Amino acid sequence: MIYATFVMLGLGTLCGVVLSVAARVFYVKQDPRIEKVEGCLSGANCGGCGFAGCSAAAVAVVEGRAKPNVCVVGGAESAAMVSEVMGVSVGVAEAPTAQNPCVGGHRAPVKYLYDGIKGCRAQSMLFGGQLRCEMGCLGQGDCVKACLFGAMKMGPEGYPVVDKNKCVGCGSCERVCPRGLLEVKTPSVRLLHFNQKDECLAPCRQTCPAEINIPLYIAQIRAGDVEGAVNTIRDRNPLLLSCGRVCPHPCETNCRRGIEDEAVSINQLKRFAADFEMNSGKRFPVSVAPSTNKRVAIVGGGPAGLSCGFFLRRLGHDVTIFEAMPKLGGMLRYGIPEYRLPKKVLDWEIQGILDLGITARPNVTFGLDLDLASLVAAGFDAVFLGIGAWKDSMLRVEGENMKGCYTGIDFLARAGKGESVELGRTAAVIGGGNTAIDCVRTLIRLGVEKVYIVYRRTRGEMPANEVEIEAAEHEGAEFLFLSAPVSVKGDEEGKVTHLEYLKMELGEPDASGRRRPVPVKGSETLLQTDMIITAIGQAPDVSFTEKTQSRLAQLKTTRWSTVDVDPRTLQSNIPYIFAAGDAATGPSLVVEAIGGGRRAARSIHQFLMGEKVASEPGELAKKLIPETIFDQVEGIERKPRCSMVELPVSERVHSFIEVDQVLTEEAARDESLRCLFCGRTCYTVETVEGDFPISLEAKKTRAA
Ligand SMILES: Cc1cc2nc3c(=O)[nH]c(=O)nc-3n(C[C@H](O)[C@H](O)[C@H](O)COP(=O)(O)OP(=O)(O)OC[C@H]3O[C@@H](n4cnc5c(N)ncnc54)[C@H](O)[C@@H]3O)c2cc1C
Repeated sequence: MIYATFVMLGLGTLCGVVLSVAARVFYVKQDPRIEKVEGCLSGANCGGCGFAGCSAAAVAVVEGRAKPNVCVVGGAESAAMVSEVMGVSVGVAEAPTAQNPCVGGHRAPVKYLYDGIKGCRAQSMLFGGQLRCEMGCLGQGDCVKACLFGAMKMGPEGYPVVDKNKCVGCGSCERVCPRGLLEVKTPSVRLLHFNQKDECLAPCRQTCPAEINIPLYIAQIRAGDVEGAVNTIRDRNPLLLSCGRVCPHPCETNCRRGIEDEAVSINQLKRFAADFEMNSGKRFPVSVAPSTNKRVAIVGGGPAGLSCGFFLRRLGHDVTIFEAMPKLGGMLRYGIPEYRLPKKVLDWEIQGILDLGITARPNVTFGLDLDLASLVAAGFDAVFLGIGAWKDSMLRVEGENMKGCYTGIDFLARAGKGESVELGRTAAVIGGGNTAIDCVRTLIRLGVEKVYIVYRRTRGEMPANEVEIEAAEHEGAEFLFLSAPVSVKGDEEGKVTHLEYLKMELGEPDASGRRRPVPVKGSETLLQTDMIITAIGQAPDVSFTEKTQSRLAQLKTTRWSTVDVDPRTLQSNIPYIFAAGDAATGPSLVVEAIGGGRRAARSIHQFLMGEKVASEPGELAKKLIPETIFDQVEGIERKPRCSMVELPVSERVHSFIEVDQVLTEEAARDESLRCLFCGRTCYTVETVEGDFPISLEAKKTRAA
């Protein structure tokens, strides 16, 4: 017994010694911070952070695999406590949120029905999946089930929608979506995104130079979420009030509804949303990223400069706009007349952009009041040139400098500033573009009795917007087609009395594809007029490159006097100078300048953050995705598009009151219902035969 007791004691002692030696040999010291970090986390063990509970998240933080703000439930407070434990500063970062980019209307047609399948993942693993659409949302709601914060719900159209107020950006939905469709991104990342070739893009989205998500904002209008629609538009276009009034809407050109019916009136819907905000008496909040302490000088406060400044500011940069004129707006203010875009609307729009924290320095001309060296000395890290195309082309005919002769931009700018211009009883406007038409319609409103428009080609070749040409016709302008000025005649005081022009006929097409006007010999004709306005084209004024000894003298320009930039990045040969809008493209459209402004903002952002200035591989870059361009769509029930409500001609020719009126809420909703909510291939037309939905498939053709 005693023996056995000693044996047991001996064995016990031996085990103790072995264990204590083993403990010393195999001891793994746990970092004491893990326990402390875990104490700072919410303790919910929800997995929303992407780790298997709070302990795993704490280990990840200490090992540097996760950031102090890992806890999506604990929020800023938890992040501050974890940072203190880790000895780092919290900093300020933008919060990501989830977004489902699929607005597949009534869903894509069904391919195969599998009874009993209730999950996206299971459905996607079965042969072919259930939906014909290869890219869009399957609509079984795996993401809704995965969201621990109640931020996802099934929308009325059968696809999930995100409640941004509840979303913590944990990424659970993104992880479970078998289509890789849901994206969890910060606002900045979204602002910097450009259309990719492999995305689900309706034709309208591809043809909008600003790349607005048109189907989404129309869906939002249809659902009564006009604030959402405004935010969708504004994420790509900060000048929605202006564009809603003056954009010639290239987006409507390839609208699929237009193949069998009239295109959706997309721009009127944009205007409806934009006016809704202005008339609501408040401004919808706009996100701005934390400050980067980088400074950018924007030269020119037109659409390109305003757009570039707006996006840079939203990305957290410090922006100052230098503008030669007394007020910002560029051609929106000094070219486009009041009856198309009222100044008070423009003022409201621009103020909203400046309110984000942008400084405006009007009455400052680059190249005269300041130059590149002074901007660099003042601490600006990059410069954007958005100087537009303000130099009018001259006719180069005898007598064109006589009293009573004006150039289009000079005339419109003076009218826009409210300055008086000596008017004649008759006036001849030379040119066929928007500038010429705006001059004509302004002259009519100012009381000139007879206004001619003299154009060397025919109506079909006029570059002005069709609606503008029609409006000028209705308002009484007289068109002299196939007429090319050869001289200006005047009296002994040097005052214009006649315009001499030659009749033309159309010959072979020129480089622009339009038939070249050829003079008819001996057809000289005199037109009696006491005022002539030349509006035959404009170019950027880049004379500041010649007037300087500084680095600016090396800025490359093209033979059209535009700033020579890389078309993908809009960076010039001087790495910290970028340009967009008319200054880079030559005279173009407001929406082109806006799209260019955002593209330049991305490049400037990359430059400021020390990244490579480059576009993303796979960007669509204004090309169309051939398989999205159909030549036939079936099942369309014809319904005329909403008509533009206009001020009657008799009222408008005597005033500068706005001509085009906004849609009512009811009309806007009706128009939104005409949208097919196209995606890359799906559109929503479905009929039910028995219980089985039959897809009425669109006929696709390869674009030429
Ligand atoms: C009469 C007219 C009618 C038009 N109608 C339409 C239309 O209906 N729809 C449409 O889409 N487009 C229309 N356009 C075209 C459209 O207005 C332009 O494409 C657009 O404004 C270009 O924007 P931007 O910012 O590049 O240039 P701009 O709008 O020209 O702005 C350039 C700004 O830079 C400033 N600036 C220039 N030089 C300097 C300098 N050295 N220092 C400081 N500031 C400087 C100018 O004062 C101006 O404010 C029209 C153009 C004209 C002239």
